[in-house]
Amino acid sequence: MSNSKLRPETVAAHSLKAIDEATGAITPPLHMSSTYARDESYTPKLKENYIRGGSPTLWHAEEALAALEQGEAALLFASGMAAITTLLETVPMGGHVAAPDVMYYGTRDWLKRLEAKGRIALTLFDPTDASAIAGAIRKGKTNLVWIETPLNPTWDVIDIAKTAKLAHDAGAILAVDATASAAVTTRPLMLGADIVFHSATKYLNGHSDVLAGVLITRQVNARWEEIELLRTKIGAPLAPFEAWLLIRGLRTLFVRYRQASANALSLAQHFEKHPRIERVLYPGLASHRGHDIALRQMTDGFGGMLSLLVKGGAADAVKVCTRLKVILPATSLGGVESLAEHRKTVEGPTSPVPDNLIRLSIGIEHADDLIADIEQALG
Ligand SMILES: *Cc1c(COP(=O)(O)O)cnc(C)c1O
Repeated sequence: MSNSKLRPETVAAHSLKAIDEATGAITPPLHMSSTYARDESYTPKLKENYIRGGSPTLWHAEEALAALEQGEAALLFASGMAAITTLLETVPMGGHVAAPDVMYYGTRDWLKRLEAKGRIALTLFDPTDASAIAGAIRKGKTNLVWIETPLNPTWDVIDIAKTAKLAHDAGAILAVDATASAAVTTRPLMLGADIVFHSATKYLNGHSDVLAGVLITRQVNARWEEIELLRTKIGAPLAPFEAWLLIRGLRTLFVRYRQASANALSLAQHFEKHPRIERVLYPGLASHRGHDIALRQMTDGFGGMLSLLVKGGAADAVKVCTRLKVILPATSLGGVESLAEHRKTVEGPTSPVPDNLIRLSIGIEHADDLIADIEQALG
């Protein structure tokens, strides 16, 4: 069976190629060298011979990620934001970008900065309203449609296939931040997206010890070549040791993600009717406004991310976070340990996130321990 036919679980477990041809090692080598020698005829041995353009351990991780998403190529960056800002750099001067009004705040903040400087024109749309998405995309004007699904921190689900059609009809490309789906439960490129993005800091690495971002393309084209060039010129590739750790994390992606999904569903169901909880936001619940799309688009669990709207205001939500004993009071997501965060504190007063929202990143612990922890914190 050729590697391209392997199922994603196998691709991840072997990080695509399990055996190092030079040594027979079944974990990949770590090439730390920043420069690579030329051969006898003074020809570079590798396609890049200086680390800013890429290096062998990085390429290994990229090939595995491209195979997982069934894209033609992947590029790893020193952070998720480095990947996002590099992609946005390919939007022509004054070009139009459409994106959701609620999403990962770092991306929204960066888009607003570019708009304020006159670098791009920006339309933010309500991601829960299909006609608002259609209305935000301008035929012949929009260059890039950026979506996130499920999106931070309401976990609303956007229909990728429909949005891809709208983008393409308008002459734009669709890029999808699929960090929360983690290349497990949704495959955006198969649904028509042009580029899929992950903060690999989160589920792909999964152990809260790497900062990394990846873009994966359906097709290698002129825009992709510009992204590759920009990464080298800006100097934003992922470093070899981080790439090596990422490969190590990737090998357990599917078991981690499935356990986190099962735990999160248990928590969501348990707290949905809780007297101290106003609402649970989780795409796996029938009460969630994205549930119908999620049933179609999330084919392997609804992920480990959910939010609790506690009864009361910001102070009540913060108090619950400080009382947790098992779930850790920290930002980020997608690690094996569960984390809780009062999102409004992190995003600041201008954030559209509700005051009483606690964002939970559910890990792979026993669900009963997590439920008991939140029960005692709610008091
Ligand atoms: C963390 C995150 C990012 C940014 O990635 P970094 O690796 O922190 O730079 C972008 N989008 C989503 C959904 C994220 O969770």
